[in-house]
Amino acid sequence: MVQKSVHDRRGLMLVLSSPSGAGKTTLSRRLLDSDPSLVMSVSATTRPPRPGEEDAKDYFFVSHERFGAMVAGGELLEHAEVFGNHYGTPRGPVMEALNAGRDVLFDIDWQGTQQLAESASDDLVRVFLLPPSMRELEARLKKRAQDSAETVARRMAKADGEISHWAEYDYVLINSDLDATFERLQTILEAERLRRRRRPGLSDFVRGLLREREML
Ligand code: 5GP
Repeated sequence: MVQKSVHDRRGLMLVLSSPSGAGKTTLSRRLLDSDPSLVMSVSATTRPPRPGEEDAKDYFFVSHERFGAMVAGGELLEHAEVFGNHYGTPRGPVMEALNAGRDVLFDIDWQGTQQLAESASDDLVRVFLLPPSMRELEARLKKRAQDSAETVARRMAKADGEISHWAEYDYVLINSDLDATFERLQTILEAERLRRRRRPGLSDFVRGLLREREML
């Protein structure tokens, strides 16, 4: 039998959900930049790309037909309709990363999070991000030039719905200060990585410690 290293670890699935404009994208990017063992799950969507968005990097931009085929073929780990568009998480890349002991970051909504909780609860860490106030959320959405006034109004109207699911998450962060929130997010990831159940190599390590004791 191959002895497991004490560093062996099962990858975890870190979900970050929030209403649009709460800082989720910025925090995700910072976390990915700071942590090479973390990979982003790139979702498939039927939403058209926004200016500056790249296919296969921000999303896989697909037709309704292709999305339907992905659902039918069981290619998606979860999928949901958000703001009239379809979004889903391709299964293959996530499984590959987890099996290689890497952690995967998901920017998905509460519906997708619920589905992951049903299928992969042991591997899941759910973080919900709240804005400090609704006024601040609206200001951030308005500053984001890509969205029209109509989109901003629609997203504000949807924010209550998303926020109403806050209690289904393991951690809740109020993003009043980006640096502080980022540090907290890093702390959550670090602590979750140390959980005993994710570290199959620990038993061999402890057995080794006890054997060593007998020889002292
Ligand atoms: P946006 O269109 O602004 O990029 O994303 C809109 C919403 O869809 C966000 O709340 C985002 O978290 C969610 N979303 C993005 N990808 C997925 C996905 O693969 N599955 C689910 N369930 N939601 C997603």
